[in-house]
Amino acid sequence: MIEIIPIGGYSEIGRNCTLVKWKDESVMVDLGLHMENYIRLTEDEDVPFEIPQSTLIREGAVPDLTAVSDELKTIKAVCISHAHLDHVGAVPFFANKIKAPIHGTRFTIEVLRKLLDDKKKRISSELIAHPENSKFKVSDNLEVEFIHITHSTPHTVLVVVHTPDGCIVYANDFKLDNAPLLGPKPNYDAMKKLVNVKALIIDSLYAMDPRKTPSESIAREMLRDVLLGTSSDNKNIIVTTFSSHIARIKTIMEISNTLKRKPVLVGRSLAKYVDAAKAAGIADFEKDAIMVKYGSKLEDYFKKNKSTTDKIFIVTGHQGEPKAVLSRLAKGKFFPFNDEDLVVFSCKVIPNEENFANRSNLESELKNKRLRIFTDIHVSGHACREDHREFIRLISPENIIPTHGDLAMLNAQKELAVEIGYKEDKVHILKNFSKIWV
Ligand SMILES: [Zn+2]
Repeated sequence: MIEIIPIGGYSEIGRNCTLVKWKDESVMVDLGLHMENYIRLTEDEDVPFEIPQSTLIREGAVPDLTAVSDELKTIKAVCISHAHLDHVGAVPFFANKIKAPIHGTRFTIEVLRKLLDDKKKRISSELIAHPENSKFKVSDNLEVEFIHITHSTPHTVLVVVHTPDGCIVYANDFKLDNAPLLGPKPNYDAMKKLVNVKALIIDSLYAMDPRKTPSESIAREMLRDVLLGTSSDNKNIIVTTFSSHIARIKTIMEISNTLKRKPVLVGRSLAKYVDAAKAAGIADFEKDAIMVKYGSKLEDYFKKNKSTTDKIFIVTGHQGEPKAVLSRLAKGKFFPFNDEDLVVFSCKVIPNEENFANRSNLESELKNKRLRIFTDIHVSGHACREDHREFIRLISPENIIPTHGDLAMLNAQKELAVEIGYKEDKVHILKNFSKIWV
C-alpha cells in the first residue's frame, strides 16, 4: 500500500505540497506558496525574510509542515514539479527543516537558486538538477521519474514516484500542448509506458471548462494579430505578461524584431526568470534586449533614454500590482506617454478581489492617459475538461485525486472521472491532512 498525505493545495488553490509514503520512506512533491495569502502578508515582492514561519503558517501562506512533523524524518527527497511559486516558493522557508536533497529540472533549480539568493538564504539540502525524462533512485525502494509535459513555464514535469507496490503520478500543473513554442510536446510515449499506476493526482483548475486548452502557438498568433495588425508608428508599445512565461517573452521578443524595435525588459522578477532561463540553457534574451533590472533605475533610464517609440517595453505588473513596473509607469511622470500608445495585457486576471481592484485602478489610469488597452491576449497553461479526459485515459490510474481547485472544481473532475467509467469510491476529494492509502 502507498500512503498519500495531502499537506497543501487540496480543496484550495495554492501552497501545493504532497507526501507520497511507502513503509517508512517518503517523497515530498512540491513545496509552494499560497500566493494570495502570501501577497497579503508581504504586499510586494520585496519580502522581508524575517516574517516568522509561525505567521506564514497561521495565515495560510505556506504548507503547515508542523502538522506532519513526525513524517519529516521519513522524507528521502523533495521533488519540485515546476518553477511556479505556488509549487517551489515555500522551499526557502523550510529547507533547513527537511534533511533531504531537493530535486527539480534545470530551470526549476535555477529559479530556486534565485529565490534563495533573493532572500539571502543558505540551505543545507543539496539542490539536484535533472534533465526532463529521467529517472533517479532516492532510496533502495523508491525511484522518481520526471516526464516532460507542457505548461506555462519551461521544464515542467509529471513527477512519478515508483514504489514496490506501484506508482503515483503527480500532474500538477499541466496542459497538453501539441504545438508548444519552447521544447517538445508532452512525452506521451513515457506516459503510455507507465504501469500499475495506483493514483493520479491531477490539476483541476479548469475541469469545469468543456473544451481543449489552446496551444501556446495560438497565443503567438493573438499577439501577432494585435502587435503587427495595429497601427503603432510613433507610438509606444508596452506589453506585460507573467515573468516566468519564457515562451511568451520569446514571442514578444520575436515580434519586436519583426517591428524592428528593440525589446526592453523591465522589472526584478522578469530579470530573475530571464537569468534562470539563461543559466538553464533555454534562452539568452539579454543578448538581444536591454535589461532594466531594478525598479529604482527606472526613472534614470527614461531620463537618459528619450527615444522610446523604437522599442517594445516588456514589463511586470500584469495583475495591476501597485508597486510593479506597469503601475509605476502609469502613475509616474517619467514615461513619455503619447495618445493612443499601446498597452497589451498578455495575461488573464487571476480571479480574486484584490487583483480585480488593482487591475481596474490601473486600467482607469491608463485610460485617463488616452492609451489603447488590449486585454486577455493570452491562452492558459492549464488543461481543460477535454484534455483531462484524454489524459486520464492515457495514464489509466486505479484512483484519481483531484487537486489545485476549490470544491466545485474538484467535483467537476470527479464528475468527469465517473463519466469516463470510474466508480465514485475511486475518486478521492481530499482536504489537507486527510490521508489515504491506495
Ligand atoms: Zn504552474
